[in-house]
Amino acid sequence: MKPANSVLSGYGVTVFETMSRLAIETGAINLGQGFPDDNGPENLRRLAADAVVDGPNQYPPMMGVPELRQAVAAHNQRFYGLDVDWQTEVMVTSGATEALADCLLALIEPGDEVVLIEPLYDSYLPMVRRAGGIPKLVRVEPPDWALPRDALEAAFSEKTKLILFNSPQNPAAKVYDADELAFIAELVERFDAYAVCDEVYEHIVFDGARHIPLMTLPGMRERCVRIGSAGKTFSMTAWKVGYMTAPAHLLGAIAKAHQFVTFTTPTNLQRAVAAGLEQDDAYFETLTAEQQAKRDRIKAGLEAAGFETMHAGGTYFLSVDIRSVGFDGDDVQFCEHIIREAGVAAIPLSAFYSDGDVRHFVRFCFCKRDAVLDEAAAALEDHFA
Ligand code: PMP
Ligand code: GLN
Repeated sequence: MKPANSVLSGYGVTVFETMSRLAIETGAINLGQGFPDDNGPENLRRLAADAVVDGPNQYPPMMGVPELRQAVAAHNQRFYGLDVDWQTEVMVTSGATEALADCLLALIEPGDEVVLIEPLYDSYLPMVRRAGGIPKLVRVEPPDWALPRDALEAAFSEKTKLILFNSPQNPAAKVYDADELAFIAELVERFDAYAVCDEVYEHIVFDGARHIPLMTLPGMRERCVRIGSAGKTFSMTAWKVGYMTAPAHLLGAIAKAHQFVTFTTPTNLQRAVAAGLEQDDAYFETLTAEQQAKRDRIKAGLEAAGFETMHAGGTYFLSVDIRSVGFDGDDVQFCEHIIREAGVAAIPLSAFYSDGDVRHFVRFCFCKRDAVLDEAAAALEDHFA
């Protein structure tokens, strides 16, 4: 029989799915795949439930229900001072994953170069390649994940169509500062490129730092797509409601991909997410404060277990160097080892590199109940003691 598409069939099942399955099979505490272990805000769940019962339950408008598009525009204004026209510059998608795919399918012409920064989220490379893009990879390196400016500049060329940029960055937990963003913006402008900005962790930024959308920098309003996710901002990853903000000339093109990929997203979830985005500042401040406390808690627990931890300035992930506990093996072996021997699941960082050559870091997800974090840390401490 004829083979399936060679780009996608070259990839295995994602590491998140694999580790979650193994955690279920072994009964391990799952600090692997990134999802909270509570159910998300009850007010939003009630709104979504009522919206299903009351209807309508037929196709909503392709671009998203007006109240959510208006709420996304207002959220842009409230947090970042961005003036956004909800009718021509906002689109709702089925998760940030769809938003990313739509952007890549719509903007990349086969042969275009795409700049990416490793370690990177797992859907980026397969989708860039499937769209015919040629990845140009640079790396931020642990322990401080500094931006390699010379390498980044060298990765741009006249053939660069776009940079796929993630801040706060999963899994490095790096939050790009104003100076780094200005450097990136200058390259985007100089090489007449676009920036697809994955900002799903925009409200999970610690230690008083602020998330700065690249779109807010001079010259960037016309060149950036800004992507958010209700999964992260409202702790309901199963909902798969994403939203993007882009200048009309780009959004129109990207909507062509959306209309043939999913076309719409469930109405009830969109309406609940609209109410979520309209919540007062206290909701967002609490989200940040709670995750920061959890970051501190897991960091202390992992350090007590003997791990050298990496700085986590944002996201709900913290990485450790497995050499610090004297583990003699690579990150994948380490994850297999602790899931079976300590009952804790984590994610090997090599999964976030194109050639998997960085093999001594693993990522723990900390958006879990305190008791769960304590139990996991204690199990690791017992095991490595
Ligand atoms: N981008 C990054 C960096 C992520 O960590 C995630 C989380 N899964 C996504 C995109 C996908 O978000 P969603 O669940 O809304 O599709
Ligand atoms: N973003 C989540 C993570 O990094 C996983 C999402 C997924 O499983 N696709 O863990």
